[in-house]
Amino acid sequence: MLSSLEENKVKVNYFITCVIYLTFTIMLYFIKTPSINKRMFPKLTWDVHSNNKTIYLTFDDGPTPEITDWVLNQLKVYNAKATFFCIGKNITNQPILLQKINNEGHTIGNHTNHHLNNWKVSHKTYIEDVEQTQEILKQHLGSTSNQLFRPPYGKIKLKSAKKLLSKGYKIIMWDVLSADFDQSITPEKCLENTLKNTTDGSIVIFHDSVKAFENLKFVLPKTLDHFSKKGFTFESLTV
Ligand SMILES: [Zn+2]
Repeated sequence: MLSSLEENKVKVNYFITCVIYLTFTIMLYFIKTPSINKRMFPKLTWDVHSNNKTIYLTFDDGPTPEITDWVLNQLKVYNAKATFFCIGKNITNQPILLQKINNEGHTIGNHTNHHLNNWKVSHKTYIEDVEQTQEILKQHLGSTSNQLFRPPYGKIKLKSAKKLLSKGYKIIMWDVLSADFDQSITPEKCLENTLKNTTDGSIVIFHDSVKAFENLKFVLPKTLDHFSKKGFTFESLTV
């Protein structure tokens, strides 16, 4: 039998889980990740406490011909380093582009082989897909490969998260969602999302994908310029 205090605790936890679930399913997304999400899942990485004016830009879903090249050129102008969460099948199609990201000093992480939504596939299928991507990364990057992982759509089952953490993966979420993938918002709104919410230690998510490019090409140069002028530097995430 649970004491009434424990019963209340279970009820509160259930309530919080429902709120988070509904937020992710009914409302589309948060621009700034609420601190309650961060507190509920403290083993996932949401931001980096640095206190030295550092921002961590991340780019998901590449490598994508021309778009990833464009992103790399923008980063170079500002001497910025970033983290690219690549899809395994895109790496297989674009191995030279992957090498280019690596050669330019950025970090490359795992974003599954087939961009799987963990809520729609079994735990086993998901873990296998992540491990396949890890093998692909190892083949292409050798000793420079790491175990950074970002779940597509930000959706990951507790069981899968636990398994990946036990295998040494670091699960990277985000603090600021630029929503560059959302074709219903204007580039100006996407820029506002990014500039208003990014702060020291923020992990910011962009996409080097065809879908996001309309927003990204407007927002990325302005974001780099805005924060560089304020004395911020842009670093890649470390293992
Ligand atoms: Zn993705």
